[in-house]
Amino acid sequence: MNGLFSRNVAALTPSATLAVSREAARLRKEGVNVVDLGAGEPDFPTPKSVADAGVRATQRGETKYTATEGLMELRSAIARRLSLLSGGRAVNADNLIVSNGCKQSVFNACLCLFGANDKVLIPSPAWTSYPQIVHLARAMPVAVPGDQEWSLKVSVADLDRWTDDAVKGLILNSPSNPTGAVYTASELKAILEWAKRKGLWVIADEIYRQIHYGVGPAPSVLDFPDDLLERVVLVDGASKSFAMTGWRIGFALAPRELARTMNALQSHTTSGANTMAQWAAVEAYASDAVQGDVAAMVAAFRTRRDTLVARFRAELPGVEFVEPMGAFYLYFRVDSLFTKTLPTATEFCRRLIVDEALALVPGAAFGDDRWVRLSYAASDEMLKEGVDRLVREWKRLDGERAK
Ligand code: PLP
Repeated sequence: MNGLFSRNVAALTPSATLAVSREAARLRKEGVNVVDLGAGEPDFPTPKSVADAGVRATQRGETKYTATEGLMELRSAIARRLSLLSGGRAVNADNLIVSNGCKQSVFNACLCLFGANDKVLIPSPAWTSYPQIVHLARAMPVAVPGDQEWSLKVSVADLDRWTDDAVKGLILNSPSNPTGAVYTASELKAILEWAKRKGLWVIADEIYRQIHYGVGPAPSVLDFPDDLLERVVLVDGASKSFAMTGWRIGFALAPRELARTMNALQSHTTSGANTMAQWAAVEAYASDAVQGDVAAMVAAFRTRRDTLVARFRAELPGVEFVEPMGAFYLYFRVDSLFTKTLPTATEFCRRLIVDEALALVPGAAFGDDRWVRLSYAASDEMLKEGVDRLVREWKRLDGERAK
């Protein structure tokens, strides 16, 4: 790119998670029996009533633009659902902006809040797009390493250590991609109080909130009173909880003035989200029956997580991993296998694809290439076969290392 394109994209690199899925798809096209545990999306279909609502909207002729901020019906349904998930607290639909996936809400928030010479704290490991989006805003991402003793989460002391006058905000993701770690209510509160004291913005990405293995949804910023939320943007969406990744529906809940500015930005970039998808999402958020579908998916993820954790303990003893409390990822360390010819998790994942046709995502995508992410959003058979292949490759590489 050197000099050919603008500085806006100087730090841009393609999404590493998508690169793995592409490689898996390429091999599959060649007839290879690939097991893909790289993807970050539920393997379940969108609940039928939700898909039907999208089809009906199309047939009714709901095929025009909506307001940039989204259908009032959808914003009201999201506000009601958020309120129900948060013990009945008031959620104002006027502060909600529907976007083309949660990713766009992260982008809108970063572009509105951060700019040149600003720094943004990102607890690490982190979802691959955060640093890229911060760069697109011309600001500087600052990775704050999480503590392995503490499921790779960060504490207020960790955040404080990396904070100087240039830091303007923090992107917090719980439940976390790639670790599955979940911040407890008291940890979350401490971080919000600290951010308030420091005058920092918090972008809270709660896209996996409903995929939680504790009681009820994972702790949320919405569990706290308004005075802690004056500089908080909640971003979330339908992709993960409702198995709706392809529909591209996300949203941001922001203080009024910021919501207006994000709306103006979106009005000049993509306009409102897909109209028919918005009608499908009305059903997803409004229907109590669909909550039953969500619960069934979460129960399946929980069973898979339990099986996976048990198999790691039994068949890969000594391999360090974060015990997932939410989302659908298992993050484990592979550097005990490193040699001169296998110096990174990226190389480990390359060997896995070549030797065993198993696709996982190297930690390079999340900021630390000693780790690997396995997604258990895959059928039981796929998951079983995937772990069989992983264990086989691990033993092979361990044998090579010992030679
Ligand atoms: N935030 C996190 C932490 C994610 O893992 C993802 C998707 O992988 C997203 C946001 C993007 O979600 P969406 O499909 O709604 O854009």
